[in-house]
Amino acid sequence: MLIIGSHVGYKKNTGLVGSVEEALSYGANTFMFYTGAPQNTIRSSIDLDDVKKAYSLMNDNDIDKNKVIVHAPYIINLANPDKFDFSCRFLSEELKRVETFGMKYLVLHPGSHVGLGVDVGISNIIKALNFVLDNDNTNVTILLETMAGKGSEVGKSFEELKVIIDGVFKKDRLGVCLDTCHLNDAGYDLTDFDSVISSFDKVIGIHKIKCVHVNDSKNPLGSHKDRHENIGKGTIGLDTLINIIYYDKLKDVPKILETPYIDGMAPYKEEISLIKSFN
Ligand code: FE
Ligand code: FE
Ligand code: ZN
Repeated sequence: MLIIGSHVGYKKNTGLVGSVEEALSYGANTFMFYTGAPQNTIRSSIDLDDVKKAYSLMNDNDIDKNKVIVHAPYIINLANPDKFDFSCRFLSEELKRVETFGMKYLVLHPGSHVGLGVDVGISNIIKALNFVLDNDNTNVTILLETMAGKGSEVGKSFEELKVIIDGVFKKDRLGVCLDTCHLNDAGYDLTDFDSVISSFDKVIGIHKIKCVHVNDSKNPLGSHKDRHENIGKGTIGLDTLINIIYYDKLKDVPKILETPYIDGMAPYKEEISLIKSFN
């Protein structure tokens, strides 16, 4: 069955119930949220009564909590040694929050090496992940996101992600989130998705893919830009995205839209119904 949803809001006053209601209003059967604003570290305490209500709403509407995704804030940068303590502390707290929400997956941007070079960046990320996971007793899996390679982003190739995973002791706590816009911008030709997946499978192993961010791209293959476009409106195109969304080997993996708002309005209801029309 197609598991499709989008990024939704999570606000203190409407809580997780509000997030689930937003997802349902789009015709989604999963969703992704941030536990607070992605650009800052202000996090309010979790209202367990709200979580309970959200779960009963999810149950009533066949939303599987194990397919719901949490996204870590952008300000965590495990590759930057100057932010090491802050990033580790915040990631540890975030893992606990995800567990309190009862979710299983936290998507994380591996980090940016801020001019220190990919190798140094990768070794900092490994050090940070080992430190965080050694001191963590949640069951949350961190999904390293494939990045566009904008600026000094680490994780723009399967090989880079593989080196990170190899360096982490608790490998079972790591998975991967593919992002179609990022893959395109990193130089992976998605029109030949069989080849992309077979290369991923050789380097990392297809079983590690636990989430796919479905976005079109405003920029051409290999542009290293990371600007998301609405489904079918960008350089990747509708046919290629539909092929990925319905790709048999990834059929149990949740697909999450992070496409831009149009005139201040979320495009997800229309995009999800467009996607479902190819079922
Ligand atoms: Fe992301
Ligand atoms: Fe993404
Ligand atoms: Zn992006």
